[in-house]
Amino acid sequence: MPVVLPPGAGYLGKSRRRISASGLVTWERCPRQWHYRRRIGLNDATVPEMIIGLVVEDALCGLYMERFATDGKPTPAISSWVNFSRSQNGLDEITTSEQTFILGINSIKGWIEQVLPSLVEEVQRLLNQRWEANPWKASGRDISEVKDERIEALLRGGIQLQLEEVENCLNSGGGPHLELYRTSGDPFTIPAPCWDEEGVKPGERSNRATNSGFKTDGAPSAWEAWEIARPWVKDPRIAEPQRLFHPDGWAAGEMDLVHRWDGKIRICDMKASAGTSGYSAGLANQLRFYQWLWTITRDHSGRPDGGISGGELSGLEGWYLMGPHRKMIDLLDEETLATETTRWHNIHQQMTLSGLHPTHLAPADPAPWITHQPGGKAIAVEDEKAAKALTCGRCTAAAFCDESPEKTRAKALSSLTPPELGSTENLLQALVPKPPCTKISAIPRRLNVKGEVKGHWGPLSNHFGEAVRGAAIVVGNTSVVIEEMGADAFGEIPAGSELALLDVAPGLWRRMTRLYLDEHSDVKLASEVTDIEFTRLGLIPTKANLSGQVVSRGGHSGVNALGKPWSMSTCHIWDGESVVEVVAFGSAINRTFEGIKVGDRIRILSAELGWRDGVPQVRIDQRQTRIEVK
Ligand code: SF4
Repeated sequence: MPVVLPPGAGYLGKSRRRISASGLVTWERCPRQWHYRRRIGLNDATVPEMIIGLVVEDALCGLYMERFATDGKPTPAISSWVNFSRSQNGLDEITTSEQTFILGINSIKGWIEQVLPSLVEEVQRLLNQRWEANPWKASGRDISEVKDERIEALLRGGIQLQLEEVENCLNSGGGPHLELYRTSGDPFTIPAPCWDEEGVKPGERSNRATNSGFKTDGAPSAWEAWEIARPWVKDPRIAEPQRLFHPDGWAAGEMDLVHRWDGKIRICDMKASAGTSGYSAGLANQLRFYQWLWTITRDHSGRPDGGISGGELSGLEGWYLMGPHRKMIDLLDEETLATETTRWHNIHQQMTLSGLHPTHLAPADPAPWITHQPGGKAIAVEDEKAAKALTCGRCTAAAFCDESPEKTRAKALSSLTPPELGSTENLLQALVPKPPCTKISAIPRRLNVKGEVKGHWGPLSNHFGEAVRGAAIVVGNTSVVIEEMGADAFGEIPAGSELALLDVAPGLWRRMTRLYLDEHSDVKLASEVTDIEFTRLGLIPTKANLSGQVVSRGGHSGVNALGKPWSMSTCHIWDGESVVEVVAFGSAINRTFEGIKVGDRIRILSAELGWRDGVPQVRIDQRQTRIEVK
């Protein structure tokens, strides 16, 4: 639920720097796993389950946003979400002559039965589209395994749980907000998105005042109960991030549903499963993280005026759609919440330090893998060591982590070994970098420079289109751009003519040397700094020659904070010791890069050195970088 945009909004809405509920859950599973997955972006091959949940949840939220016809008119049997989703891909709207008069709960159920086949079809269309666009699919898996019956069962689960809310609302006489709805429509400061109302951007006042369709008195109708019980969901029409952002910007959470009809608040998270896997262990932490963010953002100064807040937070629920099952999570009391806040803050501090130096990685500390009964009920662990090994066995980083159990690591390494090399030892031997390539761990990290800072330390747009501050450092005729590694990554530059810039990260962008500043950097008067080795501006290392085996592939595209489309294609290479992300942006995504597959051994010569949230990111220059694929 949006309150305001994040500080320095831009790509930071998806920052690897900010602690999120899913990042926290990964950290609790194993901090080292978090490092690989979140810090350096190493992912697993895509399996259908990774995309089913996202698309089914979008379909359900779109269904909850529906408004039925008023004034005695019938409602056409068309899902607004289906037509919205099709329009995003330039497809024609679907039409139908079927329609239903909404007279009671049963007619709402009848209308849903009419539109359900089109929801299933649209979910399948999106699943196929996303699957095809994915550059790295798990071998032996295909989206064709996902049958209509499975999608329908998940959708029916979400429909049943929401209809329980509507019936409870109806049976409770419409709840305490009925009169407000009847006077002027949705009364909340941040209203529940509805297809028949304008979308509301974060921080914007909704100005909702329409009560059309509501009765003036008497017992509530089913139409009214559907309207009142509609939860807050993420509005797909709004491009801005719709998360709860910590006022200081270091934490954020994106909730699925917020129910408010009964005068209290319940935060719910949907899961497209029955809740039997070990991943269900993270639900309580995830929802309690939302509890904390909810609590601290209630009196945020950026909240829009007007409307009501909805009351006290009274419950946290997991909605397992396959079943369906509702899992209730106890709220933390104030004292425990305060302790947890301190713990989360400490975790965030550890996150920012992980990977800053090649030997400083978050600790390898796997939690036991706990299986569950349907509905997310944990089954007791009998052998903790074996349960921890199960967590490692499912870990993206099992081959690269020196703390993974011997057997698990051997299995993961053997799956990376091409048959022609015969053994893991031969693979490791083949991966030893040969000149001019260096080890990934030898990428120059932090250095110190001194000189005169010229130009106002002010806004410029970096390669992600986000607003960062920048200026230049000058010595004689040599000038180098200095800029923040990300929005709000560094504070102010002190006044003074001769400054020392300490622990800054060297890099190159558009063939110009850059020095990146983040929270680990420092700027002092040069006269105050002694016993520190400085690098001359003309000798700043900015290029990397690397070699290794490709261990993951990925890609993203979107629209940046300035409204310009962007695209990036990524791979991770492993040199037998370390893993680094390699990125090609926009026109640098050439045919050679596009053709790179997991398992290829590649050499990348004269790549640009860049940084992403404190860790190196090697970038392809379309003219100067050479890629050799073996
Ligand atoms: S292999 Fe095990 S210890 Fe290593 S990162 Fe993965 S879960 Fe953690």
